[in-house]
This record gives sequence, C-alpha cells and structure tokens, in this order.
Amino acid sequence: MTDASQDLPASAGTAKSGAPIHKDPRTLAVPPHWRAGTPAAGTFLWPAMRSRLAGLPDGGLNIGFEALDRPVREGRGDHVALHWLGAEGGERRITYDELRRRANRFATAVTRLGIGRGERLFVLAPRLPDLYVAILGALKAGVVVSPLFSAFGPEPIATRMNLGQGRALVTTPGLYGRKVAPVIARIPTLSHVLLIDDGSQAGPQADLKGTHDLGALLEEAGEAGEDFECIATRPDELALLHFTSGTTGRPKGAMHVHEAVVTHYATGLFALDLHADDIFWCTADPGWVTGMSYGVIAPLLHGVTMIVDEAEFDPERWYTILHERGVSVWYTAPTAIRMLMKAGAELAQRFPHPRLRFVASVGEPLNPEAVWWGQQALGLPIHDNWWQTETGGIMVANAPAFDIKPGSMGRPLPGVEAAIVERLEGGGIRLIDTADTQGELALKRGWPSMFRGYLHEDERYRKCFVGEWYLSGDLARRDADGHYWFVGRADDVIKSAGHLIGPFEVESVLMEHPAVVEAGVIGKPDALLGEVVKAFVALRPGFEANEALARELMAHARKRLGAAVAPKEIAFAAALPHTRSGKIMRRLLKARELGLPEGDTSTMEGAA
Ligand code: ATP
Ligand code: MG
Repeated sequence: MTDASQDLPASAGTAKSGAPIHKDPRTLAVPPHWRAGTPAAGTFLWPAMRSRLAGLPDGGLNIGFEALDRPVREGRGDHVALHWLGAEGGERRITYDELRRRANRFATAVTRLGIGRGERLFVLAPRLPDLYVAILGALKAGVVVSPLFSAFGPEPIATRMNLGQGRALVTTPGLYGRKVAPVIARIPTLSHVLLIDDGSQAGPQADLKGTHDLGALLEEAGEAGEDFECIATRPDELALLHFTSGTTGRPKGAMHVHEAVVTHYATGLFALDLHADDIFWCTADPGWVTGMSYGVIAPLLHGVTMIVDEAEFDPERWYTILHERGVSVWYTAPTAIRMLMKAGAELAQRFPHPRLRFVASVGEPLNPEAVWWGQQALGLPIHDNWWQTETGGIMVANAPAFDIKPGSMGRPLPGVEAAIVERLEGGGIRLIDTADTQGELALKRGWPSMFRGYLHEDERYRKCFVGEWYLSGDLARRDADGHYWFVGRADDVIKSAGHLIGPFEVESVLMEHPAVVEAGVIGKPDALLGEVVKAFVALRPGFEANEALARELMAHARKRLGAAVAPKEIAFAAALPHTRSGKIMRRLLKARELGLPEGDTSTMEGAA
C-alpha cells in the first residue's frame, strides 16, 4: 500500500486536483505486469497473449474452458474461485474444480434439453452462485449468453429477448412470476425456463408449466455430466450478446466472440494487475459488460479468488467487505465512489484494509476530486480506465506502476492503438497529431474483443468504422505525454459562442466545491450564443439549496473555468437521473429541461 499521508489535498476541493500523483514502482507490494519496457502497440503481439491460453482442438477457443479448465489443469482446482456473500448473511466458497464440475453439469443439462450451439440463453438473476455456473456452462456448450440486469421490468426483458431470439432463460421463481410470466407470450422463441431456487415464489398467477428446476436438472446430469466435453468453438464464433447501457438512446446489442477471451486475459494482467493470490472484487453486476468481462471472466482466467456480493450498495457493508475479506484489487465505478464520498471519509477510516493494493474505476469520467478522495480515505488513489460495451474490454487505463494525472483516463494498454481523429465531410477521417487537441477517440481494428456487430443493425455497425479505425463516439484529447483526457460524449458536447465545451470539465470543477456531491451539465439552446451551459447539482447532506449557494457555485466555476465555459444557470436536484449501471443521463436532464420526450428509459434507475 502507498503512504496515505503523502500528496494529500490541503482541503477538499483545491487547485491540487490537477497535480500528478507520483508512483515509484519499486515500492509496490507486487511487481506490476505493465511497466516500463512492456511492448507497446505496434510491437505488441496478440498471438503471444493467445499462446498463453490453452485453446481447444482444431484451433478452437472457448471462454468457459479457459476460465475453468485451464486453471484446474494448472493446479488451482482447490483454490477458491468464488467467495459468495449472501444478502441475508450466509456465505459460500466454491473452488475452481467445484465450479468447473457444476458448470459442466449445466452444459450437459442444456445440451440434453436440445439447446444447441449458437442458440441464445438469457440470464436474469441476482448475483447467486448458479448465475455464474449457468454463464460458464452455457459458454462451454457453445450456447450464446446474453445477460439481463435483474432490476429490469417486463418491458425491457421482452424487448431484448425478442431482439436476441432467446431460446432459453435462467432466472429465479420470483423474477419469473413478476417479470417474465406477464410478457412470455411475446417471446415466441423461448422454449425453456430454468429456475434457480432462491426460496422465492413465482406467485399464484404464474404458470410454471414448461419451466425446469435448475437444481434438479443439475442433479440429473449426475457425475457423468461433469465430464462434459467442451465444444471447440471457433475464435470468431458468437459467445456473448451484450446490450449497451442506453445512456444516449435505445440500447444496442453488441455481439462478442470467444476470441474476446484474449483481451480479457491481457487486460486482467495489464489494467487490473491480477496476480494469482489476489482477492479481487468487481462491484459491477454481470448484467452489464463490466460485470461479465471483469466480474466473471478475467478474474477466473487469472486463477484469483473473486468476491461476489449479492447485496446492493451500502457504504458500511462495502467497507466491511474490503476490510474483512482482505480484498487486494478492487474495481468499481465513479457513482459508487461519489456515494462513498457522500458517506464521509470518517466512515472509510474506521475500516482498515491493509491488503488493498490497487483500486480502479470505469463507466463514467472519474473526477479528479474522486481520485484524491481515494488517496485520502483509502490510502490509495483511484485508477480510472476507459472502455465500452463495444470494445469488450479495457482499452485505456491508469495502472499501478505509472504516475496518475487526476482527471485523465490513462494511456492505451499494450496492444491497443488509440488516436484522436477528426471526421471529415465526405466520410473520411484525419488523425490529429497535435497534443491537447480535442477530437473523437478512435481505436485501430484488431484487438481481439472488438464487437463484431450490432444485433440487426448492420448499417449502424458499418458506420462505426472508417478504414482501419473504430470511432468510439466519445470526444477526448491526448496530452504531450500520451495521456488521454475524456471530454464528453459527442452527443453531450456543448457549443457555446463558438467554444466546444465538454460537460466533464465543468462537472469536475463544480465537484471541487465542498457542497457538491454530483453535477450533470447540459447545453441549453440560446438565441444569442447557440447554447448556454446549465448545471444540475446534487448537494451533500448539510448544505441548503438556495440562491446564494447557486451564485457561489457560479463564481467558483467562473474563477476556475472562465466566463465562457462556466455555467450560466444552476439548478439544484435532490438526485440526478442515472442508468442502472450508474451513469448520469444527461440526455434526460436535457429532454426535461426542454420539455421534449424522454425517449427510451428502460435502463434508467428506478424505471419499471
Ligand atoms: P449507450 O451506448 O447505449 O448510450 P453507454 O455508452 O453508456 O450506453 P456503455 O458501453 O456501458 O454504454 O458505456 C460506455 C461509455 O461510458 C463510453 O463510451 C463513455 O462515454 C463512458 N465511459 C466509460 N468509461 C469511462 C471513463 N473512464 N471516462 C469517461 N467516460 C467513460
Ligand atoms: Mg455507448
């Protein structure tokens, strides 16, 4: 662990926000995987990473096999793979070999039901051990897995299962009764529902005909079913169908192949710095790509013990887990960090966690204030990294061995070639070489977890690529040291009096003020200036929303950003609208401000 006393901000919210945090790799608890001298893109060879995996006959590659059979073959069969913490207090430890055998039973069971290679199995369940068994078992059987977030209501479930032509669904009796039974007639492709027994009841109206008890199926598969021979899927064969978060509009179905496992492996090394004796906790739900790539696959590939907490966010519970379970590597998200900040540093300091050595975050821009808060409250800075559902794995990251510039997402990982580009009229692009110039963040094709299509939206997929480059839709800039800085989503960028303003910069400055816990910034149409910057602000407990505070915040922003960029209007909100995966939905703030339709809100927190 680093020394918490160095480089502390003088007070919450200071000009120190932007100061770099220096690292000395020699003082790290374990030698980092990514360090000076690791080959960069251009000289980095993906085949070298691939060769570290086991593979299957005839050039086959299968995510489930790599995640379970490879560690067992390498002698980690008795090591705890999954340390499950029940919401009601129970816990279970499942070893690699136990998980492998149960997943094999699952693969045997679905194969016997006639669910074949390439067909789609959806999962909709709380974070229970059998959710993990189902995901890994299905992958081994060559069945395509599509995760749904368990808080979705019937509508988003029916829509996604219909789009994805779901043949099977793994869920619990309670979720089935409340969310699936009412819309089951609208999912004609669905022929099997497998119920994980979690003690819940399907309810009187739900017809359980045609459903199976998953426990009984696994029992029937028997010991012989544990010898399931993994399907030798081709590397370019579909493995996962992930719907995006729906932050900017209707969610898209991103298609991923088994070869993605090569990225999961490499990023587990370089971005998360996983070592075999780590206790790793990814707080994301497997209903989203982060919870799948890093809450299921990558940790198993590296033979670590992963913590799975069934319960929802609660500051005291989370600190207790970090403390009592000896978490060494922690991967979480900015919203959670902001909620922990709201709960206060004193609470954090009540729970020492001497084993914690690396903390990373993804999903939204991580305000410099949050990076410094980590240093203060946890004794470790928080390492931001950037990727998308489409990229399948982490692409740009801050890693243990390198200095952090708070507010920067870090640098492209080994193997990842990134660029800042400008779209040209007529369809081409121009690479921007000058440092600190804003443009669209692009990635050179060829990383193994690149999505291979948007479900039923071929044209939209094609439009994401120009020649060799994938265009991410996010605006960023690169500084002279090669660090990337997030500016905003192309859709969210504000054009005011000829300036292009990224919401992130304005939000981060507002967050420097001790009263502000979260800020969302939009452009509001203005006859004179094109757009003016408007900020929606949620306050910390103990601060009162009033005119004087609004003026104070605007003055603070003007001082830090200049009058052209600072917000002209501030509105206080008890809470900002978020997606269920925790992102601020600026498009909703804007639609509400302008009295426009809200569009697809299926992924909004609190939506039915
Ligand atoms: P949709 O595409 O449906 O609107 P989404 O883009 O939010 O939803 P995801 O794929 O879950 O769906 O999120 C990826 C996006 O999240 C990125 O394109 C980026 O805008 C944002 N993001 C992720 N990590 C970071 C980060 N470290 N800094 C800034 N933004 C980030
Ligand atoms: Mg997106």
